[in-house]
Amino acid sequence: MAEADQPAANVTSTQQATETTDGFHLVIDALKLNDIDTIFGLVGIPITDLARLAQAEGMRFIGFRHEQHAGNAAAIAGFMTKKPGICLTVSAPGFLNGLTALANATTNCFPMILISGSSEREIVDLQQGDYEEMDQLNAAKPYAKAAFRVLHAEDIGIGVARAIRAAVSGRPGGVYLDLPAKLLAQTLDVVKAQQSLVKVVDAAPRQLPATESVERALNVLKSAKRPLILLGKGAAYAQADAEIRAFVEQSGVPYLPMSMAKGLLPDTHEQSASAARSFVLENADVVVLIGARLNWLLSHGKGKTWGAQPKQFVQVDISPTEIDSNVAIAAPVIGDIGSCVAALRAGVDTGFMKSNTEWTAAIAERKNKNLAKMAATLDKNPSPMNFHSALRAIRDVLKTRPDINVVNEGANTLDYARSIIDMYQPRKRFDSGTWGIMGIGMGFAIGAAVTSGKPVVAIEGDSAFGFSGMELETICRYDLPVCTIVFNNNGVYRGTDVNPTGGKDVAPTVFVKGARYDRMIEAFGGIGHHATTPEELTKALLEAIASGKPTLINAVIDEAAGTESGRLTNLNPQSAATKK
Ligand code: ADP
Repeated sequence: MAEADQPAANVTSTQQATETTDGFHLVIDALKLNDIDTIFGLVGIPITDLARLAQAEGMRFIGFRHEQHAGNAAAIAGFMTKKPGICLTVSAPGFLNGLTALANATTNCFPMILISGSSEREIVDLQQGDYEEMDQLNAAKPYAKAAFRVLHAEDIGIGVARAIRAAVSGRPGGVYLDLPAKLLAQTLDVVKAQQSLVKVVDAAPRQLPATESVERALNVLKSAKRPLILLGKGAAYAQADAEIRAFVEQSGVPYLPMSMAKGLLPDTHEQSASAARSFVLENADVVVLIGARLNWLLSHGKGKTWGAQPKQFVQVDISPTEIDSNVAIAAPVIGDIGSCVAALRAGVDTGFMKSNTEWTAAIAERKNKNLAKMAATLDKNPSPMNFHSALRAIRDVLKTRPDINVVNEGANTLDYARSIIDMYQPRKRFDSGTWGIMGIGMGFAIGAAVTSGKPVVAIEGDSAFGFSGMELETICRYDLPVCTIVFNNNGVYRGTDVNPTGGKDVAPTVFVKGARYDRMIEAFGGIGHHATTPEELTKALLEAIASGKPTLINAVIDEAAGTESGRLTNLNPQSAATKK
């Protein structure tokens, strides 16, 4: 974008000498004062100098090729750290691109702040046709937990403080902060400016549960014959890992992790009921939800998935309005997960399940049966590879590196990887989340690599990868240890559909056959591998991890292997004309 009309911010001069400072400096000072050290974004009018200045002042600025991915990186950084991730964009279209990520962050309860430059208020409000004119504040409101605009430089400190507090307190979410171009160039006396900054104290205070709620929950739990603990990504976010593990182990109650809660306890834990998921959901009589919502991912707490047995739910959540959202909750426990779980643990006898071996034995039996079935499927070596044989290779490598972050999206690639790839540490798995969306791949991978300083393996369906594939350049530019594995089966779901008219256009689900995604990364100096067998995939992945270099493995999967919509076939409206 042209910079001709940019307000000048001399990023190298010391503002102290003139005894004035400006909006640019104040935004950076306010973020730094609150220990925010990284901005994910994409420069242009009117925020280019803000990014330059952030870098000059010692912050990390990670520049993307599309704002949606910068926003996703910020959101996942927020999930990993409990501090709001920051995404910086230009006005109107840049803002709208970032808004997708902001909405996704809000939906997933990830704390992030989308900061966008905007056009002049006076012109926008009179709709006089400014450059990139848009009423961004109002556009953001329905998709954000909160939205603020700052009009005066002396309010920047308060604006940033409010944004931080809104993002991380209570149920975390996405916050929009609107910074009109004029604000950034406003000058202010240095002393007054310093005094206007706010260091947020205790941004996400502990929220202790009421004693009577804890008692009620314990009574429900103690009445159970077939109890189940269900851990959601809120439990992972809360960073109460030791307390949660102690509660699970002390009670002896079987548990199920939702996908982004995998690794809170290692997936190989003997109390994990993951391999008997359908069985426990159907047969449990008391379910303790910890940071998990009864949304579509849990069939809204009713229907066939949950069986005919009457159920009682205990729900631990920070948001009181989440309770009874889908079915009646017998015992809500409102507060932060660390405090709530500690209170529950204090009331549960050690070996609570010891007298109830029937339930645990039934789960163990089902688990062993399913694991044996899965092992037989994974042991097969079809040619070309299918999802299972490719994932077996990846699973075996990742088992040796529990510190590696895993990003996962796709339809079949997501469904299979979620159950086949074990996780061993908390907050290491990042995926399509609450919306079940595609497009988070490279943004999450970059955010996770930058935030953790650890390698990332992104397991991507070829369709899912397409949404953020250009960020390979970003990965190479910052030399990030990200290995992207594209499960290439030539299409959305699979590559075998045909155009029934016999016309020239391919079917709506089909891509270029035999595409070489590995060559895309080579264009930017990264390392490409082409893998057609599990052995080649293993070798390539081991090399990628050892090198710590940006790598892409084009994993060729049988184009007939996928199923329509993965496991979500039931969500497709049926058309008699096209369904077979
Ligand atoms: P999943 O998709 O893994 O089931 P959800 O995103 O549906 O997880 O649910 C997360 C829940 O966790 C939300 O209802 C949110 O309010 C809650 N939550 C997030 N952080 C905390 C926290 N620190 N303490 C208590 N509850 C939390």
